[in-house]
Amino acid sequence: MFGIIIVIFCSYGEGFVTPSQDENTIVRIIAFLLNCFGVLVYIALLWVTCALCYLVREHSLANARRLALVQQLQGIPFGRLAINIEMTCAICMTNFASEDSVVQLKCDHRHIFHKDCLTPWIETPSIDRPVAQCPLCKKPIIAE
Ligand SMILES: [Zn+2]
Ligand SMILES: [Zn+2]
Repeated sequence: MFGIIIVIFCSYGEGFVTPSQDENTIVRIIAFLLNCFGVLVYIALLWVTCALCYLVREHSLANARRLALVQQLQGIPFGRLAINIEMTCAICMTNFASEDSVVQLKCDHRHIFHKDCLTPWIETPSIDRPVAQCPLCKKPIIAE
């Protein structure tokens, strides 16, 4: 757009000032370069628009993946896991009771959390965890 305006301005000036052949060539080259610059600005704007669309799409896909993951979480009573020692949920810092519904993640058999604690952890995205990840080791949470 800016380039086009310059070209129009230059061609107007041509007729008005009637520059010599050399000046005319220089003006044409400058107009051509400015025109190229205008095209580059267009390409940059197009690229920024595409990048924004991509980010918005990725964000909604990530949210869909989170919700799907929450649906697949299988809560089991802590007492049914073959664990004899006392363990604490790293999210709420409470010791597990044998009847508590817990989720054991695949990253490590000791990475166990209350289902009710892990669900909001997965559902709530944050800048430092764009994908659902284990609160302890930060590995991505894999569905069943
Ligand atoms: Zn908990
Ligand atoms: Zn883990």
